[in-house]
Amino acid sequence: MLLTEEVEVNVGRNLVYYENLGYEIPKYLNCKNELKVKKGTKIIVKVSDLKVDSISNVEVKCDYCENIYTITYKSYNKSKKEIINKDCCKHCGKFKRRESNLLKYGEISHMKTEKYKNMFSKKYKNIKEEFIKRGYELVSKEYVHSSQKLDFICDKHIDKGIQTISWTHFNRGYGCKYCGYERVSKKMKGENNVNWNGGISSLSHYLRNFIDDWKITL
Ligand SMILES: [Zn+2]
Ligand SMILES: [Zn+2]
Repeated sequence: MLLTEEVEVNVGRNLVYYENLGYEIPKYLNCKNELKVKKGTKIIVKVSDLKVDSISNVEVKCDYCENIYTITYKSYNKSKKEIINKDCCKHCGKFKRRESNLLKYGEISHMKTEKYKNMFSKKYKNIKEEFIKRGYELVSKEYVHSSQKLDFICDKHIDKGIQTISWTHFNRGYGCKYCGYERVSKKMKGENNVNWNGGISSLSHYLRNFIDDWKITL
């Protein structure tokens, strides 16, 4: 709620503007007998008469926490009022956003609106299919964002249980690490690699030391 009703302003360049609104501006006669306004002349005007982009400070009471804060009339006019006609201090912006989302979308967060829900469930189905194509079963029931850890089980390594991978990594070709070990193992056996002396566990050990995050070849 706007508390300030009147403010003192520098007449300056707004002389005509305020005169047209009916304000009396003190003037003096100069040596040439002309009416002049002294530089720095100030008058009291109604806040509602200020220009919308006035940088005069006004006091506002937050409609949420009731704290009183000072902002320029320009900022006051900039704050959105179309949906929720309330003023909020910088700490209460989130409450106003929630209220406006609730009114606009029927939900507190716009991420939970039907539109987004549909978008994410469509994406989820698509992701699930991509996992199946690679021989994995997607365990996670929801897709939220691309770096979220998605739980999956590899059809060939059900015994290894649930593994996790982000959609971003999956897309880059990463997947079941055990399948990966096996692929590299085959390749190394073929090459008769000197650093590897057989056995899947020692290979895994060797590989873990060798590469942290590595790519499987599809
Ligand atoms: Zn507040
Ligand atoms: Zn696997």
